[in-house]
Amino acid sequence: MLIARSLKELHQHLNSLNAQNKIVGFVPTMGALHSGHLHLVAQSAAQNDITVCSIFVNPTQFNNANDFDKYPRNNAKDIELLEQTNVSIVYFPVYDELYPKNQPKLIDYTDAGLFGVFEGLFRPGHFQGVVTVVMRLFNHVQPNRAYFGLKDYQQYLVIKRATPSFFKNLEIVGIETVRNQNGLALSSRNKRLKQNELTLALSISQALNSIKQNVKHTSVEFAKQKATQIINAAGLKLEYFDVCDVNDLKSIEEWGSENKNVAVCAAFMGDVRLIDNLIF
Ligand code: AMP
Repeated sequence: MLIARSLKELHQHLNSLNAQNKIVGFVPTMGALHSGHLHLVAQSAAQNDITVCSIFVNPTQFNNANDFDKYPRNNAKDIELLEQTNVSIVYFPVYDELYPKNQPKLIDYTDAGLFGVFEGLFRPGHFQGVVTVVMRLFNHVQPNRAYFGLKDYQQYLVIKRATPSFFKNLEIVGIETVRNQNGLALSSRNKRLKQNELTLALSISQALNSIKQNVKHTSVEFAKQKATQIINAAGLKLEYFDVCDVNDLKSIEEWGSENKNVAVCAAFMGDVRLIDNLIF
């Protein structure tokens, strides 16, 4: 496993692995790695000749300075975990190389359908920051495929839609959510939860599952009410809960469309913001 701490080192390592003539898979992360991230790395390593994993806590996607400051960081442990995988290169980008002073800070791109709902609505500017950093990382790594967790379903859709405007032959691969044995979606932010909060946070996946069980037995509205009650009863503060079309995240009012649906949720456990979803 090679470690790159600058763009120059990344290119040196890619050259040393003859990346131009190989298929490169890329897994962008913000570190504080857990089994969900490692699953993405394993999928990439299985499907490509070379896998690059980047670790960068991207300030422009945090709308809340406190959340950015408190975001868990542990590069030494991340390196240890990645050493046990088949990753080829770990890339720690330099801030000034992603955000050069002589360039506009953010990429000029928007998505009218996705930037204004759910994560986009509750975290103003979030997706502008995500698209900016991801497209610049793609530019650094020049991958053939890039791997994103369906845990952040809206982010996956945003990136899948944005990428063809910037890169012609780059495939975006969505990977299913890894959960703990109780059903809680793994998240770096879980590291900030106490034991009893981890238990209460299970209400999120329970609420999402209740939607699946209620499909066609009750109205969509009633199913959503029951689901939100589960989260409220556990003492979490709900930001949104909705049932949507999986392709465009438009809310559905009745069951029975031909497309798959996705139930999406964001809630605070104390001051830790958690998101999850269930595709069905
Ligand atoms: P993050 O470090 O939170 O930005 O996540 C990096 C990548 O890992 C993103 O594509 C996430 O969607 C993905 N990811 C995070 N948690 C999980 C999980 N529990 N299962 C699968 N993928 C995940």
